[in-house]
Amino acid sequence: MKILVLNAGSSSVKFQLFNMQDNSVLASGLIEQISEPMSRIRMKYQDSTGIEQVVEQTLPISDHHDALRKMSALLIESGVIHNLNELDGIGHRVVQGGASFQAPAMVDEYVMSEIERLIPLAPLHNPGHLSGMKVSVEQSPSVPQVAIFDTAFHSTLPKYAYMYALPYKYYDELKIRRYGFHGTSHRYVVKEAARYLKQDIHTLNAITLHLGNGASVAAIENGKSVDTSMGLTPLEGLVMGTRSGDIDPAILFYLARKRGLTLDELDHMLNKESGLKGICGSNDMREISRLAHEGNEQAQLARDMFNYRLKKYIGAYSAVLGRVDCIVFTGGIGENDSETRKESCSRLENLGIKIDAERNALRSSGIMQISTDDSAVKVLVIPTNEELEIAVETMEMIEKHC
Ligand code: ADP
Repeated sequence: MKILVLNAGSSSVKFQLFNMQDNSVLASGLIEQISEPMSRIRMKYQDSTGIEQVVEQTLPISDHHDALRKMSALLIESGVIHNLNELDGIGHRVVQGGASFQAPAMVDEYVMSEIERLIPLAPLHNPGHLSGMKVSVEQSPSVPQVAIFDTAFHSTLPKYAYMYALPYKYYDELKIRRYGFHGTSHRYVVKEAARYLKQDIHTLNAITLHLGNGASVAAIENGKSVDTSMGLTPLEGLVMGTRSGDIDPAILFYLARKRGLTLDELDHMLNKESGLKGICGSNDMREISRLAHEGNEQAQLARDMFNYRLKKYIGAYSAVLGRVDCIVFTGGIGENDSETRKESCSRLENLGIKIDAERNALRSSGIMQISTDDSAVKVLVIPTNEELEIAVETMEMIEKHC
């Protein structure tokens, strides 16, 4: 079975083609700067002898139509597929599914109109997803297509966890509530954790930490998400690359009054100029780490703030869950930054969390256990694979519905 995973943004399209027999990647690529004078396309694939090949091109790509046509042409020219009808399914990543989608959905007119209706809740993401989806349905009308929502995994949050203490009418009328994001990653790593620990996922309690440029924590009880740090939008929660995470909302009124900042300027500042970048000028944790080791105080402060916020969430979600079987670190920072793992879990022995320094310092491309043997809570590092999770969910949906 061949499943194509598409992640269409406003000016980019990421794609991965999986052979679901062994979950291997037949091709993967990125088309960037769509609609700009020059766009770039890069695709990696295995040729017929199993050797990895890379194609890179710079050329004008006017819109999503053009981008998907170019992607299909490259997949066919490189011999990865003969035509699009060879695909058994296409899985589309969608960031915001609101309250409408608690599970993957077969793409049809209704699903596309709902994704469109949800644009005000995800103005930066849903329009790109929708354009990619419409073009893909047009180009491959006979291939089943599935929408996979980042928010769906968090649809199991209890109401007291997803409500904000604002006048109720804003929930009633505008659906302002916590939705949570990164659900595909949290779901993937908790499934992997259950497999690794040989524990039934339906009895597994976990805290999953997805630490990339965007970062979020989820509290998972009996395999289901019961709380998560991102909210109505991905802005809430942890200190992130360029997002502030939790702040006192009154700071915004103060800044507006003192500095005359407009709503758009405040939005930009919180989403693009804050977080690690706001504190030390960089949002790349590798560079921040290097600067901190060289004695740069703001870089060290940025790391300390990042780890401190993380520690607070680990504590809070330990309280939410009562019993925690495992903590999972994932994402670029979670998978690679051993100091972040050490610092955020330090002095949490009272919560049953004990890190083994030697194990934590090891590097692996697979799953690692970094807690001591006598740690009540197992601490794991699990590389995330959101594309594979989308492919698996797409396949499961197609098997159920087609
Ligand atoms: P995205 O959210 O863009 O998918 P990633 O999951 O790729 O992000 O994570 C990006 C972050 O991971 C960056 O801050 C980057 O510096 C950090 N990172 C990647 N590799 C390492 C490493 N070896 N050590 C520390 N941080 C790393």
